Amino acid sequence: MDHTEAANSNTNSTSPSSSSSPPPPLPPAVVLSPCAACKILRRRCAEKCVLAPYFPPTEPAKFTIAHRVFGASNIIKFLQELPESQRADAVSSMVYEASARIRDPVYGCAGAICHLQKQVNELQAQLAKAQAELVNMQCQQANLGLTLHGNGTISSTIVGTISRQLH
Ligand SMILES: [Zn+2]
Repeated sequence: MDHTEAANSNTNSTSPSSSSSPPPPLPPAVVLSPCAACKILRRRCAEKCVLAPYFPPTEPAKFTIAHRVFGASNIIKFLQELPESQRADAVSSMVYEASARIRDPVYGCAGAICHLQKQVNELQAQLAKAQAELVNMQCQQANLGLTLHGNGTISSTIVGTISRQLH
């Protein structure tokens, strides 16, 4: 049936072969191609296919990856057990976990989490060091200002705190 519609629109828009004329507009027919999941599983994509909203035919890799790790029947079971509002998040989580598992068969996404946690710890240590240096510099600056104003008693206490921080 799609063929006849396409043929009709072609006959309507047959224009003389002038190269300057714009190409005929594409017919607004809805392309009922199966979702990526059904295409890979070689099955008919039913109207209420549970996978279709999350595995569009434009992104076949998403389903290939998730299918390889979890298996199609498990993916379908997971989605059917969830309310529709949570299914999109579940799918992106499964795709993320599956691709991490393929990259790192031993640790999967736990490996990525450990790596990021290590980075967080290192950055927190760097931040603490920088903050300590900042406090030191502020103390030195305050000390400089106070000695310029001739207040020897206060500046000597600050010098004491600085030297204690340095040691
Ligand atoms: Zn489908």
